[in-house]
Amino acid sequence: MTETRPDPCASPKAGLLSVEDARARIATLLQVIEGTEQLPIRDTLDRVLAQEVISGIDVPPHDNSAMDGYALRGVDLPAQGEAALQLIGKAFAGTGFTGTVAAGQCVRIMTGAMIPKGADTVIMQEQVRVEGERIHFGTGHQPGSNVRRAGEDMARGAVVLRPGHHITPADLGVLASLGLGEVRVRRRLRVAFFSTGDELCSVGEPLQEGQIYDSNRYTLHGMLRRLGVELLDLGVIRDDRAAIQQAFRNASTMADVVITSGGVSVGEADFVKQTLDELGQVDFWRIAMKPGKPLAFGRLGRAVFFGLPGNPVSVMATFYQFVQPALRAMMGQSPGPVMTLRLPTETPLKKAPGRTDFQRGRLVRGDDGQLRVNSTGLQGSHVLTSMSQADCFIILPAECTGVAAGELVEVQPFAGLI
Ligand code: AMP
Ligand code: MG
Repeated sequence: MTETRPDPCASPKAGLLSVEDARARIATLLQVIEGTEQLPIRDTLDRVLAQEVISGIDVPPHDNSAMDGYALRGVDLPAQGEAALQLIGKAFAGTGFTGTVAAGQCVRIMTGAMIPKGADTVIMQEQVRVEGERIHFGTGHQPGSNVRRAGEDMARGAVVLRPGHHITPADLGVLASLGLGEVRVRRRLRVAFFSTGDELCSVGEPLQEGQIYDSNRYTLHGMLRRLGVELLDLGVIRDDRAAIQQAFRNASTMADVVITSGGVSVGEADFVKQTLDELGQVDFWRIAMKPGKPLAFGRLGRAVFFGLPGNPVSVMATFYQFVQPALRAMMGQSPGPVMTLRLPTETPLKKAPGRTDFQRGRLVRGDDGQLRVNSTGLQGSHVLTSMSQADCFIILPAECTGVAAGELVEVQPFAGLI
């Protein structure tokens, strides 16, 4: 066994805001958007519930059989030896047995069929001996077994789902089993986004010398689509003050949230922070994280503004660590726990102290059946393939100075995150 180093304390470099503090500050500045809509339940997948769902019926609506077998009175089960009961009819799901089961009688019953009057117990067909109309039951059975009680899943009057619930496939089924055709959900969040940079060439145009293709607008498109927001893609804006001002004004009139990438550092062509200062309120932070140090956050008219860094991996890391939780909060979604695991790393991990690293990793299952993590390799903030090859972030705390193979690290799987 390799010894595990204790988690070094995560106090970041002076002048940089810690990841946790940045998250907390964003959270205090957000409000849930107003506006709801009533939708057919199929259209509510991945939306946020805006009402309480109270069960108007018992689910299941009646006591019914959990097995294919025989329904009988529990008191007729033998304490020893065998009891032979008279078969008096059949009960199918949807077409019950209309008579009453009396002492010494039983009814052939299928899964989901209503428990006939008089009966309170079902014995599996595999556990009986059939002799024509005489059914033989042995010992070892519990009275009341194999019966699903009315209201066991959802009792009439119970609160089944609360506002803020993120609607999953299971919930569509839950709503349907209550007989609800429509529910009220929050309206979609409107998110406008654009890239900034004179070097950016759009897909479909030939690349000129010194240019790169604009990839951030595509990763943002993907990340935002997964969240089910309304997308307003405003293209590429040049590094020009007037153009950026115009784009800011335009975006803030149409969206609840405006997201930009690039132009947020302190270079001579970085106008994002300055423009936000002029047209809105800015909270500019240098965050003690890698990748993704600069982040502009603030208000632009009625919209919330996120100015993400330009480097492609930084865009994704800051989006998942800050923007996504913020958008979910604005959508009215109740927060869940951040899912992380502690796993051994197979590869040593290089790290300089001072900032929280979000390195890209891949989960592997060893021959011993245990999960481990590997680095994807090059970790530069421009190496976007590190994100496409990864299935998790390896989160290394600020003061960590590197990790040896075999040590435990904190891992945030992409499953459920992206
Ligand atoms: P900036 O923050 O604008 O200085 O950009 C930092 C780095 O990210 C530079 O190397 C940019 O070329 C690059 N970059 C900025 N925007 C994009 C984009 N939309 N797609 C790909 N790379 C970008
Ligand atoms: Mg730039």
